[in-house]
Amino acid sequence: MELDSALPERGRPADQLWSELDQLQAGDVNWRAGRVQGYVYWAGEDLLDVSKEAYRRFFSSSPLNPKLFPSTRALEESIVAMSSRLLSGSASCGVVTSGGTESNFLAVLAAREQARTERPSISYPEIVIPATGHPSFNKAAHLLGLRVVRVPVTSSFAADPDGMRRAVTSNTVLLVASAPSYTHGVLDPVGEVAAIGAASGIPVHVDACVGGFVLPFLAQLGTSVPDWDFRLPGVTTISADLHKHGYTARGTSVLLHGTAGRDRLHSFEFADWPNGRYFTRVFGGSRPGGVLASAWAVMNHLGAEGYRRVVAESMRLTQRLQAGIVAIADLEILGRPIMNKFGYRSRALDITAVADGLEAAGWAVGRQARPPAINAHVLPVHKDSIDQYLADLASAVDDVVSGRRTTAGKEAAYN
Ligand SMILES: *Cc1c(COP(=O)(O)O)cnc(C)c1O
Repeated sequence: MELDSALPERGRPADQLWSELDQLQAGDVNWRAGRVQGYVYWAGEDLLDVSKEAYRRFFSSSPLNPKLFPSTRALEESIVAMSSRLLSGSASCGVVTSGGTESNFLAVLAAREQARTERPSISYPEIVIPATGHPSFNKAAHLLGLRVVRVPVTSSFAADPDGMRRAVTSNTVLLVASAPSYTHGVLDPVGEVAAIGAASGIPVHVDACVGGFVLPFLAQLGTSVPDWDFRLPGVTTISADLHKHGYTARGTSVLLHGTAGRDRLHSFEFADWPNGRYFTRVFGGSRPGGVLASAWAVMNHLGAEGYRRVVAESMRLTQRLQAGIVAIADLEILGRPIMNKFGYRSRALDITAVADGLEAAGWAVGRQARPPAINAHVLPVHKDSIDQYLADLASAVDDVVSGRRTTAGKEAAYN
């Protein structure tokens, strides 16, 4: 569908626009039918309505100016306090950001600034991260002038602390671990990485963008979850995305610091401007107030009990999907994923051909490289589509086994 390339001279009635927008959207993936895994985090229509209504009420508020909109500061403080209590048992400090990329960016910036004052001899700072770490760290390093050292993971797709220790140099300003990795859902041995940081004085960032609002509730439900948060000495910062398993409006994440006042390391002040002092603690300037209202409302509407319910349901669905996958000959789960996110592969079959078969059956398939695998991310929205997915997966595998389908080997591309 072609959209206008010039601003129309005369405005058009809203009804016409709604129908055009609906038509346009008809070409997008049908996430409500469970045709894609990940990307859209939905835990029920009622909850989405709460999120939208809160957003609507704060649609025009501007958190950039808390003097005019003190409500937005109160919301941000409450969201940070609730999040940090969840991840530390006590309050620390932090900010609400626009997403995991910005949270990780600020963690890298804070580490760079800390090194600038404490270790001024470093001219080209480095960060050491597992190979499965998110690309946002490379993006942050690109923007901030750091070097990224990616360390191969173990055969179970977890960070290798010995390899990371060996990768540390006199230029290392930050170590990263994922809780868990976005790629395989495997929890890195955060305790061992944090111990390297504690022993060497190097800050440790835990990227819990995907797991931050799952792992605490999984533990409350009785699953054994190794320590990974501020309870570990050595953990300096944690990023956790509210707009993923927090189920709040897109554009919401938190960056938390284990010590009070450390947010000054990513605060920015400019005084020499005709309009006076300008101050921010995040990358953005103007930002939406709606996301803050949405996050506050969704967190309070769900409560810990609601999050436990969503996590329990997601894990039941995950176990159903995993059981179905391993029941299909030659398919295996990668490593030991801790939550509702994992990869699966085959040692005998061309998994990219299997992915092609799934795609032909109308599924949006996440493909992985090194090793070639298929990505799964199970959410409450998949309740009614898992059986169909498994049936289509079984026939895609059959087609490859029998030679009915071969592949040109489409590459893994995230977007
Ligand atoms: C999603 C994710 C990110 C990036 O977050 P955005 O919200 O897409 O910017 C970073 N790290 C992990 C582990 C993630 O799951």
